[in-house]
Amino acid sequence: MNNNIGIYIHLPFCVKKCNYCDFLSSPADNAVKELYLRALQGQIASFYEEEYNRTHPVTSIYFGGGTPSLVSPEWIKKLIDTVRKYFNVEPDAEISMEMNPGTADEEKLNGYIEAGVNRLSIGLQSSDDEILSALGRIHTCADFLDIYRRARRVGFTNINVDVMSGLPDQTLEGYEETLDLVCALGPEHISAYSLIIEPGTPFEKMKLNLPDEDTEREMYHLTRRKLAASGFERYEISNYAKEGFKCRHNLLYWSGNDYLGFGIGAASYDRGVRYSVIKDRDKYMNLAFKDKWGDLLENIEHLTDDDRKTEYCILGLRRTEGISLAGFAGRFGQRLTSVYRTPIDKYTSMGLMELTGDRLRLTEAGIDVSNVILADFML
Ligand code: SF4
Repeated sequence: MNNNIGIYIHLPFCVKKCNYCDFLSSPADNAVKELYLRALQGQIASFYEEEYNRTHPVTSIYFGGGTPSLVSPEWIKKLIDTVRKYFNVEPDAEISMEMNPGTADEEKLNGYIEAGVNRLSIGLQSSDDEILSALGRIHTCADFLDIYRRARRVGFTNINVDVMSGLPDQTLEGYEETLDLVCALGPEHISAYSLIIEPGTPFEKMKLNLPDEDTEREMYHLTRRKLAASGFERYEISNYAKEGFKCRHNLLYWSGNDYLGFGIGAASYDRGVRYSVIKDRDKYMNLAFKDKWGDLLENIEHLTDDDRKTEYCILGLRRTEGISLAGFAGRFGQRLTSVYRTPIDKYTSMGLMELTGDRLRLTEAGIDVSNVILADFML
């Protein structure tokens, strides 16, 4: 276990809301964006602690949203510079940014590289324009191809593409076309999620023609087979990477390292305390300009030892390499196999988990029912 930390910066702006989205984001004019970004700079600066910096190097910065590519390269640079000024950022830190097709031209992409961004995450979701339109996305597949090629042209060498399965009117063949198209482009990383209908979204109220459970399962297996054949290693339930391109930021989350979140709704895990930033954008900006940093935080939870063990296992078991027995013992001073004897015995005998050498991991069959298994690791 190391003390590396990741920094997440939430940029909550979108051109318009997608029909399935419950992320904290909305359209905003330039004046609001400017105020929010200034407040964000203030919040980042307010965290400064000399001793913490000495012992906690930052190995990744992640701009998520929302649509971070609606923020200018000048502002992205200011935010990166602010993080560098107030934290101990490693020179080769991974700096990722989410991007939506249709929101950046070559000049802007160049600007992001110059600002220090070295990893892009582009949201395609589907290669079928009708499905994209039903999702409420603002782009077509051609827009995605355009931005992907431009990103390569300006020099991005680490690109993730997001795809989704289980979408309304999506067939197995249609999903396969999406995977084929993405694999042919040869990105370094693919995140493949299945649609979840979230409460409060337009999709919740709409009558949707969703793939049945068997088709969804086939889509899931197809993803694994196709991406393996194209040289991607699955290293987490929904994430696939070419060799050397696992997302360092997400690996920190799944390894139980600390992370700090700035901007509305952003979550932190900071020396055993979990908390998040308030969700109300206007209130956030107002409090930030009054320097009331403590009032920006909510849901503050001091984790007990049992909470930390649960979190370590649930996050660690999402990775295909699983959890290290020595890592658990080093951190908690107890044997993993003693604390979790019952679920380990149960699921290894069912062939859903395996214990080999120093590692406990889910098998392929176990990943299929991971929600049920992980629930049994709650203390
Ligand atoms: S672009 Fe992303 S964050 Fe914005 S509304 Fe669509 S899914 Fe949500």
